Amino acid sequence: WFANIPMGEKDPIFGILDAFLNDTNPSKVNLSIGIFRTDDNKPFVLECVRKAEKIIISKNLDKEYCVLLGGSPAFQKHNLDYTLGPDCEYNQPGRNICFQSLSGCGALSMVSQFLSRFFPGRKVVYMSDPTWPNHANVLESMGLETAYHRYYDAETVSLDFCGMMEDIHKIPKRSMILFQSIAHNPTGFDPTPEQWNEIAEEVKKRKLYAIVDNAYQGFASGDSDKDAQSFRILAKHRVKFALCNSFSKSLGLYGERIGSIIFLTDSQDEVQRIYTQFIPLTRANYQNPPLHGRRIVEEVFTNPELSKIWKKEVVMMAGQLKNVRQLLVQNLKEAGSKRNWDFFTTQIGMFSYTGLSPQQIERLSKEFHIYMLRCGRLAIPGLTTKNVAYVAKCLHKVTSE
Ligand code: PMP
Repeated sequence: WFANIPMGEKDPIFGILDAFLNDTNPSKVNLSIGIFRTDDNKPFVLECVRKAEKIIISKNLDKEYCVLLGGSPAFQKHNLDYTLGPDCEYNQPGRNICFQSLSGCGALSMVSQFLSRFFPGRKVVYMSDPTWPNHANVLESMGLETAYHRYYDAETVSLDFCGMMEDIHKIPKRSMILFQSIAHNPTGFDPTPEQWNEIAEEVKKRKLYAIVDNAYQGFASGDSDKDAQSFRILAKHRVKFALCNSFSKSLGLYGERIGSIIFLTDSQDEVQRIYTQFIPLTRANYQNPPLHGRRIVEEVFTNPELSKIWKKEVVMMAGQLKNVRQLLVQNLKEAGSKRNWDFFTTQIGMFSYTGLSPQQIERLSKEFHIYMLRCGRLAIPGLTTKNVAYVAKCLHKVTSE
């Protein structure tokens, strides 16, 4: 049946990962993937998660289907407080609906399916240029159209806020717009709170519906409230959105596939309408949500000792990323580079857009065994205090010769 279907394109990240794994040079460095690692470049499981798992195991719980398809009331309540904050107008009955999801990507996928069927306006979603490449893949796979607005200025290696606002101003009314809440992937540049206020006003004027991808809350500053400012500002302006939350990064639960979806609503009637349409969508996609990840999240949220440990660990993870960013700039100077690399420290989160050309990136992998995406995105978690001097030296070489 499938012998003649077109061959698909190789995913750029997995292609680079293959090349990295096949490279036998001991100096090799993987700067292509956004997974937090220890400074020894080892996978990191949070202590609060390890402790939560021990508690869960000691409870001898069953493994039956989880009948609360949207998540338990405790899971939902803590998700709402964590994201919207306890004082948000929408954090009360009738003003939201919260649903457990298969992490951030599963949330985006379910939201896209829902919007593809039920969004009453133009089924076109505007996104930043560039954005995480999987956004277009998910949205288009679920039947939505995609389009782009300006976001990044390659000349100055900074946020092109004027260009972004000009483009948003031209978006036809009753369309959709996708925002990344914090630690923008791939550029590492976010609007300031003042700029989010301007964005919110424009989005409101254009009557746009927003999808907010919240994959890195806590990772930018180490303070999950501060990192939630973008969509809390949108909510204050009464911009309606569907929030797609992930615990992959903030709790290091990458492989557990746990996250949530929050729709802002105006009435209990609207909640019921969304809920009753979401149930068949869930059943069509995966029938019942997974238990283990939800139990971990619930335990960490509801156990004060674990919540405290979690807070400290998020600060530690964000701090480690900030530290290697600074070390990289310092080492580039020490290597003799005259370029301005300050953007590494003004950007935040897991990624940096470097402005390096595909040729320079090819040299980095071929000559120096350093692997990053051809678009110029450098994944900060691959940097450690041990390899940062080497990476800096090689970056200087490819940008000066
Ligand atoms: N959104 C963005 C911007 C991401 O970078 C990622 C992960 N790389 C995700 C969503 C989804 O991650 P997950 O499905 O693991 O939550």
